[in-house]
Amino acid sequence: MAATTTRQPSLFAQVSAVPPQPASSTAEAPTSNPHHPKQWHIPRLLLKVRDVSHEGAIKYFNTTNTQKVLHDAVIGVLETLYTHETAPTTQRSITLILQSMDGVANTTGSDLDNDHKKIYFSLDYIGQIPDDRVQSEILGVIRHEMVHCWQYDACGTAPGGLIEGISDFVRMKAGFSPPHWKRRGDNWDAGYATTAYFLDYLCSRFGNDTVKRINLALKHSTYTPELWVTISGGIPIEKLWDDYKTAFNLHPTPAPEPSDPEKEKEGYAVVAQEEAIPPPPSKTEPKPPQSIEKPLPIPPTPIVTYGSSMRRSGSPGSGDVWPFAANTPVAHIMLDRLKNMRFEGKSGATRYILEFEALIDRLQPEMSDVDKKLLLCTSFHGPTMVNWYETSCRAVTYHQLKEAMQEAFKNY
Ligand SMILES: [Zn+2]
Repeated sequence: MAATTTRQPSLFAQVSAVPPQPASSTAEAPTSNPHHPKQWHIPRLLLKVRDVSHEGAIKYFNTTNTQKVLHDAVIGVLETLYTHETAPTTQRSITLILQSMDGVANTTGSDLDNDHKKIYFSLDYIGQIPDDRVQSEILGVIRHEMVHCWQYDACGTAPGGLIEGISDFVRMKAGFSPPHWKRRGDNWDAGYATTAYFLDYLCSRFGNDTVKRINLALKHSTYTPELWVTISGGIPIEKLWDDYKTAFNLHPTPAPEPSDPEKEKEGYAVVAQEEAIPPPPSKTEPKPPQSIEKPLPIPPTPIVTYGSSMRRSGSPGSGDVWPFAANTPVAHIMLDRLKNMRFEGKSGATRYILEFEALIDRLQPEMSDVDKKLLLCTSFHGPTMVNWYETSCRAVTYHQLKEAMQEAFKNY
């Protein structure tokens, strides 16, 4: 059940706390940073709660000091993924939003400004965490999501499993691993804890900065398996994974897994997608029925959920498809649909972009390049657009972005 959109409503009924984050406040400085706590860039940290009476909200406030948790999470992520020299400094705000919703949590940017991140955390999920796990699970989920606010993703081409693995690696290093996590030997990019343990092994073998180096390697370039050769000084990923399995006895000695090996893959994918952080209440790890997701290939399949409403006959760009004036109500509806277009990967990126541009020409020819870039990113990457835009698109022109898209997705 892929989370299909980054467009979350931005209007909230309540703003229950808006704790400004004084980066210079030594009194509030996190305890986790042995170096120069004041030198990390801490964005403004915000909290929004949509239902303070929800059981999950009550559990949350009974256990959680939001300011400290968010602040520590930022510091913890920066320390694990960056140095003072490499840490991003453009983030302006991170908003934790507690609301009733399916799934566990997801992270997005805002439509208009990706320097403002939003972490959505399900009150329903919090509500059903056993009491003795509430605090730790909240810390863990927030730490995981906080990673998504900061990590690179190779212009959206990094395997989803790697992205999720890095997030859980950071969570693990912070000491927030849930009790059911264990090493698994199915695929290195199965994501989440499976990949996190593998990354931890790589750190023990190639240095504690290994995950930092991996993250930085995902800053500008497109992902290729060559990454692992570079990181390890010459060893391909297959060998590394094999070594890991040998080191921890994870080779399939037909140790019959009682459960579905697909289990770990659920929720693979995209940065902002709902996490498959396991349901704490029952230790039986019931397999959710929605595990329709597949692990992403490399480069990631552009996810695709656009509604059939955008499909239409008529050639792309043909002038008779949208025969209405720009200011009519119909035009507004069509604009909304334009904003919800998703690349399906069926007709090729070039053709898709032609359609995309034809719509813009018809509907809003004066649209700025910045807006066009945002729309195009969104339509190709859906929920992953946030990080992807941040890491790859902001600095390029619309034209450059378009060419990069055509190249990256020419085989879809
Ligand atoms: Zn995640």
